[in-house]
Amino acid sequence: FPVERIRNFSIIAHVDHGKSTLADRLLEISGTIPEGNNMQVLDRLQVERERGITVKAQTASLVVNHKGQDFLLNLIDTPGHVDFHYEVSRSLAACHGVILLVDANQGVQAQTVANFYLAFESELAIIPVLNKIDLKNAQPDIVANQIHNLFDIDKDEILKISAKSGLGVADVIEAVIERVPCPQYDRNKPLRAFVFDSWYDKFKGVVAHVAICDGVARKGEKITCASSQKVYEITEIGLMYPTQVPSGALFAGQVGYAMMNMRNTSEAQIGDTFYHENQPVEPMPGFKEATPMVFAGMFPTDQSEFPQMRSAIEKLTLNDRSVQIKVDNSPALGQGYRLGFLGLLHMDVFNQRLEQEFDASVIVTAPNVAYQMTVTGEKNIKYYGSEDITVLNPCLMPEPSNIAEYREPMVKGTIISPDDYINQITGLCLDRRGRITDQSYIDDKRVMFQVNFPLAEILVDFFDELKSISSGYASFDYEDAGYEISDLVKLEFYLNGKDVEELTLICHVSRARDLARQVCLKLKDTIPRQQFAISVQGKVNAKVLAREDIKAYRKDVTAKCYGGDISRKRKLLKQQAEGKKRLRKIGNIDVPKDTFIQILKK
Ligand code: GDP
Ligand code: MG
Repeated sequence: FPVERIRNFSIIAHVDHGKSTLADRLLEISGTIPEGNNMQVLDRLQVERERGITVKAQTASLVVNHKGQDFLLNLIDTPGHVDFHYEVSRSLAACHGVILLVDANQGVQAQTVANFYLAFESELAIIPVLNKIDLKNAQPDIVANQIHNLFDIDKDEILKISAKSGLGVADVIEAVIERVPCPQYDRNKPLRAFVFDSWYDKFKGVVAHVAICDGVARKGEKITCASSQKVYEITEIGLMYPTQVPSGALFAGQVGYAMMNMRNTSEAQIGDTFYHENQPVEPMPGFKEATPMVFAGMFPTDQSEFPQMRSAIEKLTLNDRSVQIKVDNSPALGQGYRLGFLGLLHMDVFNQRLEQEFDASVIVTAPNVAYQMTVTGEKNIKYYGSEDITVLNPCLMPEPSNIAEYREPMVKGTIISPDDYINQITGLCLDRRGRITDQSYIDDKRVMFQVNFPLAEILVDFFDELKSISSGYASFDYEDAGYEISDLVKLEFYLNGKDVEELTLICHVSRARDLARQVCLKLKDTIPRQQFAISVQGKVNAKVLAREDIKAYRKDVTAKCYGGDISRKRKLLKQQAEGKKRLRKIGNIDVPKDTFIQILKK
């Protein structure tokens, strides 16, 4: 295909507005997959199928005929959830246009706004498309108005389709060909290949997604990695059609996959440029590093499984560059890692992928945000001056008497909702220490709020609560908004008078008492009764804010059997033994392994 007949584009949308369905339909129309298929071909990961969400951006190529000529369209499907914005911006780097898909029933949502600006700032061609017009409640005219008001898009440019039935999908293909510019690449120049994604495949080893910017890459050729100067041989190269189809070569403007006999997963750096051996070219600008927002400890359930966990984490982070890793040690949980994630869903998904794709069983500690503090007067500070530190692990927070200033991370949130819920939403925002900076109508029934929140306040259950007070209608999205001065305390928990470091939390002073109570109750609920009484205390600066007691209990599961059926007795004892495996010892107390992650859930 000459570059004039290649289009690289992406579909962006709020979650559930139909991206994956439209992708299926596009692949179907072009004959890439058989018809009548409803399998969300691009959601390849098990967690994606189970949760019905797209986590990794995926690519697929399709060939369509337009006015008698064949065109090659490279489609990059992206995740819609806020935690995965990083994936979205990364795939946009390989595109020249986007389909901005909006559900004609739900209308513009918070993530639609965020995604629009990502594409707009990258100066991509934007094709606005209203989806689900087959629905009885669809309001295409009202939603077209919203798009016009918010994004200053001409209403005539907006396509109206049903990704489900296929109605209007052919027009989408035509719009992609006519409105998205072709790549400005030159296949006669020396090879310049850009890696925009890479992952570890259990069977094939390291696989890279590459966009060929100039020149041609062929199987068997020797190529050099611009950052490491290491030389590799291309062992396989091809298109995603929609699964890997070897083609022997990729030409400028094409997007596909490549394998290069890499031994170590850390060799395929995302954002790297490759060129032919001894023919160096100017590398492509790399990607901006993603900033992790949420941190948690991860430890193997059994210390002897640490090496397996380490290799699983290394492989998984190759596939997900936005995860930050640091080695960590904990008195109760042993050797492990402190990992940084973009959000809670991101953390859950990572954890689930560890278990499903790599068979690693892990304990996850309660998540926290990264706090900044100015420390003075501590002996170990040079010249007795002051120093700014970032605290990723709450139990490492210095003594309050040495802290001159606390700062916590903030986010700029966008909420879009029908105006029936203005009061409830305002109340919820204030309750979460939010500051509403703007409130405006985007049509005659829907309101858009701009709210500054402390990140810690929206981390755990904000979204669920927003959904429940708005009968599911409000949507939410946020972006990083730097740090603000705050008043923080270190909340410590004690089991029988012994400080359990792994349970330490940092919180706003106004939250300490409620949080202490909540965690003590949670601990009382999750820790099973044992042969001795256990006191649970939450303290700030050695002052007890909450206390619960777990009564002693001799757990004899066979007591009710009256010496009767022996096989029943055996079965019960076996169950008890299995239950024990899920427990961890802290001092002499058995604590279930999911306690650490459970304590923040209400
Ligand atoms: P994504 O999260 O944006 O990838 O959305 P999906 O493609 O997974 O679609 C979300 C839901 O909307 C699914 O249940 C689809 O079957 C449904 N859906 C998608 N497109 C249409 C459409 O045009 N009409 C109707 N009625 N439902 C649709
Ligand atoms: Mg999807």
